Amino acid sequence: MNKHDQLYRFLFESHSVRGELVSVSETYQRMLENHDLPQPVQRLLGELLVAASLLTATLKFNGDITVQIQGDGPVKLAVINGNNQQQMRGTARIDGKVNAAGSLHDMVGNGYMVITVTPTEGERYQGVVALEGETLAECLDAYFKQSEQLPTRLFIRTGIQDGKMAAGGMLLQILPDAQESSDDVLEHLVQLTATIKGEELFTLNAEEILHRLYHEEDVTLYEPQQVEFRCSCSQQRCADTLVTLPDADLQEILHKDGKIDMECEFCGTHYIFDEKDISEIKTVKKEQLH
Ligand SMILES: [Zn+2]
Repeated sequence: MNKHDQLYRFLFESHSVRGELVSVSETYQRMLENHDLPQPVQRLLGELLVAASLLTATLKFNGDITVQIQGDGPVKLAVINGNNQQQMRGTARIDGKVNAAGSLHDMVGNGYMVITVTPTEGERYQGVVALEGETLAECLDAYFKQSEQLPTRLFIRTGIQDGKMAAGGMLLQILPDAQESSDDVLEHLVQLTATIKGEELFTLNAEEILHRLYHEEDVTLYEPQQVEFRCSCSQQRCADTLVTLPDADLQEILHKDGKIDMECEFCGTHYIFDEKDISEIKTVKKEQLH
């Protein structure tokens, strides 16, 4: 029985290559519940979710990663944000009609992918790659080729399992201390991993998957990490955003609506601020400045 919403790490004992394996169900459903999206866009968010989960699991520090796609097609924006505790959230913005068979290019048009790595302490790092691949995984391969990071390959599958949207994926990465010959080893492992089917990722447990793919290899599988849907929004974070806005704009909304209603675009939570709240926020801000 497959345990969903678990991120597994594994290591090839005879090679300087590490791996990851994830399949998301509950996390993915919870994310989709907050948005009314056509199925191709749901699939795209699933792919991004898997990518963000696999990428945050490579972090050696506390922090979060945002994987974002932007373009001039009907899907203006699709974004997933996740942290090293595997708490994930996501959203998409659509303007126009998305075809049922929507390929990545049909949906996003001419666009690019931005990957932002934000350590809890330290410098933020951002990488951008044009969306020239047929699939998100190809675009991620291009991203890793152009950035000076460890050679890394991702495999992403989405589909429908037991009547629900399902997504899963795998990652292979060369270890920092690897010899040059590891490129050939990685290529061999890539060929094996590429045979993974969505159904296998959604229904088999991690041991079975690793055995099917790499039965001639000595692979160590580590304890999994739980993946979950969680949004990091809060009244305080909204307040922090509000104080950066021009006073005249805030007063205009208060005058017109009697309150400021901020909706989190990830989870749909509404945060309401009235005139008293706004003046309190501003007083606190002033005190902090002095
Ligand atoms: Zn939220």
